[in-house]
Amino acid sequence: MGDKTGIQWTDSTWNPVHGCSKVSPGCAHCYAETLSLRYKHTLKPWTPENASENVKLQHHLLGLPLRWRRPRRIFVNSMSDLFHEQVPDEFIEKVFGVMLSADQHIFQVLTKRPERMRDFMLERTDSRWASTAFEWPAPNIWLGTSVENQHFADERIPLLLDTPAAVRFLSCEPLLGPIQFAEGWLTGFCDATCDHFFKTGGCRCSRGMGNSKFGPWPRLHWVITGGESGAHHRPFIPAWAASVRDQCLAAGVAYFHKQGSGQRPGMHQELDGRLWHEFPKVEVDA
Ligand code: SF4
Repeated sequence: MGDKTGIQWTDSTWNPVHGCSKVSPGCAHCYAETLSLRYKHTLKPWTPENASENVKLQHHLLGLPLRWRRPRRIFVNSMSDLFHEQVPDEFIEKVFGVMLSADQHIFQVLTKRPERMRDFMLERTDSRWASTAFEWPAPNIWLGTSVENQHFADERIPLLLDTPAAVRFLSCEPLLGPIQFAEGWLTGFCDATCDHFFKTGGCRCSRGMGNSKFGPWPRLHWVITGGESGAHHRPFIPAWAASVRDQCLAAGVAYFHKQGSGQRPGMHQELDGRLWHEFPKVEVDA
């Protein structure tokens, strides 16, 4: 179950949680809701009011990646959001436990609730939750947030940047408008004055600022763009994605363009006449 996916930027999906509720315009035509209702995994629209019925913890799927021996990229919760309000901290810890143990894989955790993800990661970083047995933040756990327009970029990217993670990424999909990255979002210098620097006794840069002696340091490591697919797909202007791409290229940030908009997923994958399928070059330590 979950072994195959049509999502080009990953190899497999793993859904220890199923079901979600909508939080922003990017959710309007959520493919996960469409599939879930079609196959009757959930019975009611994915509204906040129905979340207690729709969000289901799938304990029986927790150990699945441990049984996959071939290393792969795994998109965590393609049918939900790991940091949904209905998912208890204890369950998220179990998911992280599996991701830490199955370190032959890369796990791609994508949320539209980056505030909770930040708080979860900061609490466990400061308490050294996993530090005795595992490298923390783990090199094989990539944390990302979805932003569909400038408003949610302004709201969510600073939260992601304050999240301890070896790799941080953005999914700008469905891209619904232009996005201009603020200075210091893509790369930055460490001022070595942050709380984290002192608590950890040096810069490893789990908060992503790196050490100034190494020059500008990536703060975001990977950006994905894409248009909307499905019967009700909204307009996608290639210049929006091209602008994101150009900002990434100028900053040395890996860029992946998934598709334009269209009836079916995967249509119009080229941007300016070619595919853009870059992945982050992982650098964890300063
Ligand atoms: S956060 Fe993701 S899974 Fe949840 S409703 Fe929005 S698009 Fe769907």
